[in-house]
Amino acid sequence: MNDENCIFCKIIKKEIPSKIIFEDDKTLAFLDINPISEGHAIVIPKDHYETLEFLPDNELKCLYQTVKKVAKLIYEKLNPDGYNIIQNNYKAAGQVIDHFHVHIIPRESGDKKITLALPRSSASNEILTSVMEKIKS
Ligand SMILES: [Zn+2]
Repeated sequence: MNDENCIFCKIIKKEIPSKIIFEDDKTLAFLDINPISEGHAIVIPKDHYETLEFLPDNELKCLYQTVKKVAKLIYEKLNPDGYNIIQNNYKAAGQVIDHFHVHIIPRESGDKKITLALPRSSASNEILTSVMEKIKS
C-alpha cells in the first residue's frame, strides 16, 4: 500500500536515494537529510499510513521494535549523551510528511537543539473529570 505522491513511499521504493541504516520486511530507517543533530534518523512503516491511529497494531509493534533497534545502534555507535523519540500527528502538531514516521534525535548535554516549551496550567478536578468523561464516553 503506497501513495505515489509520497516522498517516503518513493524512498521505500528506492526511487529517491537515502542513507538507509536498517531495513526489514515491514520497516525502513534512514538518515534525515535535514538533521537536527548528527545521526538524526527517521523510522517508517513500509505501508503508507498517515498517522498513528491508522497504523495496525502488528505494524506498530514492528515499527517500534525497529525504533528501539536503531536507537540502540545510534546510542552505541555515535555515543550521544541521550536521544529523543519524537512522533508528530497532523499539521497542528508539526507533521510535515503525511506518512507516519518516528524521529530518533541524538542529543548532547546542553546542546539546546530542541527546546520543548511545555507551558502548563493547572486544571481543576471538575475540568479533569469532564475531559476524562469525554474521552471515555
Ligand atoms: Zn507514503
